[in-house]
Amino acid sequence: MGMPSGACALMDLSRYFDHAATTPVAPEVIDAMAPYWRDVPGNAHSIHQFGRQARDAVEEARYRIAQCIGAESPYQIVFTSGATESNNWVLRANVNMAVSPIEHSSLRVPARGSLLKMQGWEVEVWDDFEIAVMAVNNETGGMPTLQGTPYKLHVDATQAIGKVPWSVGDAAWASFSAHKIGGPKGVGALYIREGVIDPMILGGGQEGTLRAGTLNVPGIVGFGRAMERAIERQEAAHAHASRLRQVVLERLAYVPDMRVNDAPRQSPHILSLSFLGVQGETLVIELDEAGYAVSSGAACSSEIDELESPVLRALGVPPEWNRGTVRISFGETNTEASAAGLARALAAAVENVRGLGQKS
Ligand code: PMP
Repeated sequence: MGMPSGACALMDLSRYFDHAATTPVAPEVIDAMAPYWRDVPGNAHSIHQFGRQARDAVEEARYRIAQCIGAESPYQIVFTSGATESNNWVLRANVNMAVSPIEHSSLRVPARGSLLKMQGWEVEVWDDFEIAVMAVNNETGGMPTLQGTPYKLHVDATQAIGKVPWSVGDAAWASFSAHKIGGPKGVGALYIREGVIDPMILGGGQEGTLRAGTLNVPGIVGFGRAMERAIERQEAAHAHASRLRQVVLERLAYVPDMRVNDAPRQSPHILSLSFLGVQGETLVIELDEAGYAVSSGAACSSEIDELESPVLRALGVPPEWNRGTVRISFGETNTEASAAGLARALAAAVENVRGLGQKS
């Protein structure tokens, strides 16, 4: 096997329908970040002017992010490496936290507490417990509702920002990730409403001694710009995704044995479809060959050998449908023409795979 060359061919981003896995970095975000690689080399914790310049940029990003999510103070925002870390941190600090069965793997896998019960998209809240219920589910785009008032609530808002109106409200903690909203990978934040939380990483005094390590200044600057941009564009993004989802659904209406895994409250940017008699993964590969990127579930679980999504199982999707699920997730780079093309390719792939199944 040769060394990776590092070269990358230019891809047609209009055919990229996996925005829930990650998004391209927006040009304005790249422009905002570039000076912090090129011209501002300082460590945000150095006291000289180079350091102060970097620190000012970090604090400005913190302020903007706090405003965008409706936090009372920028000091409620702690920068992390992404939503996985933020979710892990909240769980580590609240070992008995009960989590909903449809949480992202970064909450479900490390959770030691119980799983909350769901009826459809309603989550039964336990009064005296810390609980975690996400704002928008990353596999289907569905938005769970709470039955009852939690004692303390953690909200994974990773898939909500820039997609649906959202603010921290009564949440005690909330997780965010830059790369889902046109920002860079490897940067995120945890919102901490108040009180004491054990540090995530010990060492230097960064982030109020809660998370040691030299700050990723360009990444944080990019996250701030991406957050602002996502909020500015949220309504337009919602309308765009709604149109694209309609284009796909209209063109697939004739396909037999297809199920749309929508919720009563739904973010339009994710469309989860299940097809009887096929495997989701096979459709993903067929679509890849046709030049389209979709996924068969959460990108983070694609290496775990499991044909059925535990999230869809918890939502009551029967096993034979669960196995045949694809997740289409829309974003800025998609067009109505590319959505129509995707639908055509998907219908052909389903027909092809079902035909092969009958022959064997
Ligand atoms: N939570 C949700 C709902 C997500 O969709 C993701 C990304 N797949 C994460 C958490 C993890 O985010 P990150 O990639 O920043 O660790």
